[in-house]
Amino acid sequence: MATIIDGKTLAQKIRSNLKLECEELKKNGINPKLAVILVGDDSASKVYVRNKNKACEDVGIEFEEYLLDSSITQEKLIDLINVLNYKKDIHGILLQSPIPRHLDINEAFRTILPEKDVDGFNPLNVGKLALNQDTFVSCTPYGIMKMLEEYGIDLNGKNVTIIGRSNIVGKPLIQCCLNKDATVTICHSRTKNLKEHTINADIVIAAVGKAKFITEDMIKNGAVIIDVGINRDENGKLVGDVDFENVVNKASYITPVPGGVGPMTVAMLMNNVIKAASKLYK
Ligand code: NAP
Repeated sequence: MATIIDGKTLAQKIRSNLKLECEELKKNGINPKLAVILVGDDSASKVYVRNKNKACEDVGIEFEEYLLDSSITQEKLIDLINVLNYKKDIHGILLQSPIPRHLDINEAFRTILPEKDVDGFNPLNVGKLALNQDTFVSCTPYGIMKMLEEYGIDLNGKNVTIIGRSNIVGKPLIQCCLNKDATVTICHSRTKNLKEHTINADIVIAAVGKAKFITEDMIKNGAVIIDVGINRDENGKLVGDVDFENVVNKASYITPVPGGVGPMTVAMLMNNVIKAASKLYK
């Protein structure tokens, strides 16, 4: 039976350490602050923003929410980002995705100043990650790397198969794993014979968005399984992309859903805000 990677407890530990760093910054006159922009009323996004707000309260980071109507124009969205860019008291800016289709999210991410881009989506920060330079790493991949590190799972020379190539999870994960000397395979909806790519992997990272997508027969004995997915099963229960009940007997390590990658994503966002605020000293 696999060791369960306890993202919830690890995230709590990271947040407690960040709280101390935040107190230190405040003693030195810096009051870390995160601005979050939410466009429209997507219910899942509202829950994510609420969780981020709670985490900020817990760590001591000030939280400012900007709620924009779903009919907002691109120009007005960009204007708001520019205002936040130049507000000295704001250290991190986060645009909650998805945003309505008529808006250009790429232009919005490009507009967020790289030094306030705590989600790591500005092309400059994406490029820095590709070059293995110090940058803001997007929070989900960063949280996954922290979990692997904490559990002593070394990536050097390992075969890592990532399923899902989104800009927020799969693509930055390629760079994170390469930077740790793994041999990386990335799969997506056009991949033929997916099992051929998962069965020999030492580490499988699933970011697909389909319940029970990764089954026991797709992985080798002793593989490390990281489940990014957040789905509802036929009974409305929160589940990941992995058929946990069966895979847990074959894997060496596995992340649960909930309580795995999710809390780590929020903890790494807090980490990035504190890092952005700390940079005022450097
Ligand atoms: P996304 O943008 O929808 O990307 C899904 C990826 O899965 C795409 O690259 C897609 O391929 C691939 N895919 C779809 N069907 C496939 C198949 N049959 N075989 C192989 N690949 C397939 O999703 P995302 O934003 O990366 O999120 C993925 C999941 O993680 C979702 O459940 C999301 O809610 C969750 N998530 C969790 C966290 C967290 O903190 N825990 C953070 C972010 C996301 P194509 O590119 O070819 O379409």
